Amino acid sequence: MASTKVQTQLKDKLKEVFGYNQFRGNQEVIIQHILDRKNTFVIMPTGAGKSLCYQLPALMQEGTAIVISPLIALMKNQVDQLQALGVDASFLNSTLSKSESNRVKKETLEGKTKLLYVAPESLTKEDNIELLRKSNISFIAIDEAHCISEWGHDFRPEYRRIKQIIEAIGDLPIIALTATATPKVRADIQKNLKMEDANIFLSSFHRDNLFYEILPKTEPKVQLIRFIRNHQNKSGIIYCLSRKKVEEVAEFLRINGVNALPYHAGMDSAQRMGNQDAFLNEDCDVIVATIAFGMGIDKPDVRFVIHYDAPKSLEGYYQETGRAGRDGLESFCMMLFSESDIAKLEKFHKDKSVTERENVHILLQEMSYYAHSSVCRTRQLLHYFGEDVEHNCNHCDNCKTKHASFNAKDQILLALKTVEETESRFGIEHICNVLTGTKSDYVESYNHTEISTFGKGSEFDNQHWESIIRQSMINSFLSKDVENVTLIKVTEKGKKYQKEPYNLDYTQDYQWPSELEALN
Ligand code: ADP
Repeated sequence: MASTKVQTQLKDKLKEVFGYNQFRGNQEVIIQHILDRKNTFVIMPTGAGKSLCYQLPALMQEGTAIVISPLIALMKNQVDQLQALGVDASFLNSTLSKSESNRVKKETLEGKTKLLYVAPESLTKEDNIELLRKSNISFIAIDEAHCISEWGHDFRPEYRRIKQIIEAIGDLPIIALTATATPKVRADIQKNLKMEDANIFLSSFHRDNLFYEILPKTEPKVQLIRFIRNHQNKSGIIYCLSRKKVEEVAEFLRINGVNALPYHAGMDSAQRMGNQDAFLNEDCDVIVATIAFGMGIDKPDVRFVIHYDAPKSLEGYYQETGRAGRDGLESFCMMLFSESDIAKLEKFHKDKSVTERENVHILLQEMSYYAHSSVCRTRQLLHYFGEDVEHNCNHCDNCKTKHASFNAKDQILLALKTVEETESRFGIEHICNVLTGTKSDYVESYNHTEISTFGKGSEFDNQHWESIIRQSMINSFLSKDVENVTLIKVTEKGKKYQKEPYNLDYTQDYQWPSELEALN
């Protein structure tokens, strides 16, 4: 526990530099940890205030804190904001001229710079390593730390070299920060940074002002315009998969009297920035964008986020929808879902390595199941990020609609038994095949036609059993293996349920007829 004197100093600095009266959530304990030179791992939703967790301790110590950040635009944004507050902050990346970069290096060596933002690419340059070795570095902050993990949604190979470089610079405390990390990604980050001993500060991902809704994508344009008419003159973001679709949807909205502008990386930068500013300054209500839009944008009153096309992962979906309602007021997140979008996303990656394709496939399967499930959206999302919630949120489409449910006790027990009999070495698809008695080379090669549960669930199809397994995961009877997320095993809670089972209702998944899916 920090002394009262240190606490007072921290609070004074918070007020003096940032103008805030209070810390938010875990900020103060996190900062204290860094000041104690302990490795720290911060997982906090977007907008919760991660930056302050490394900015403030940087100002409380001698020397320069290094902030590794993946996006040049974000870096510039933060440095501008800090300089406006009177903080000595700079960045080192490929956009600087030789003389600018020399000035930054000189000020770092002199210990004048309190925060130095560096792109991972610049960090790997030999002369920069040399510079940092000679400078007085207080600690290293790694922003968007999920980029380290191949299992994450934004893998950046150069992030995997960070630890090696830090070791070359010196024995420095690390603070890793991210807004999205499933338990698997978390384990990967800690292993890669050799900070298994780090204290993890995990904030709840629950956003109770967001209303989540998914509709089968049947007539996307009609569904879109209907939604927007119900939220007239409100500020909103519409995400589309391709630049072409962005242009098309923005045009369609304009024709229909909606004040909308496009945003994507293919536009010339002046026009793109102009559209972004128009959105931020309320000169346009709706921005139609690819996922290039939104990182680092802090517009508090975005009232809705629409996914016109399916996102590529639940991590992406959570981050993108998280841009709604930052002011805490009720906001809406609507997705138009179709399996053909999922197929398109798989196709986008067809030329990638096998590992990458498999990873994409797993992320998309999760996405697809999330869309079809009638379990509370919040519970599903939080479970995905490793947070178990017992109660439904009562503010998503699934909570607001009455779904057919059934007593699943016997089916849960059968599914758990099958996972055990196959020695927890298989994934959902295989377990479903065993339950339904579907013979495949794979099932036969493991002699799983011989086990007692083979075909015992044949009155239902694979889809039904997948739903039983997924709902059992949300209820923590089953869990994914942390090392290999494609494998599932029975948890302690599951074992207890086997010994003392009780009636439990599961809900029927959505049965969206495939012929209804849009030909978009
Ligand atoms: P994140 O990096 O977690 O997405 P930011 O660091 O950008 O979030 O912070 C989001 C917003 O919250 C910013 O506008 C920031 O100034 C504000 N903020 C952070 N900490 C506090 C605090 N203790 N009191 C008030 N506002 C804060």
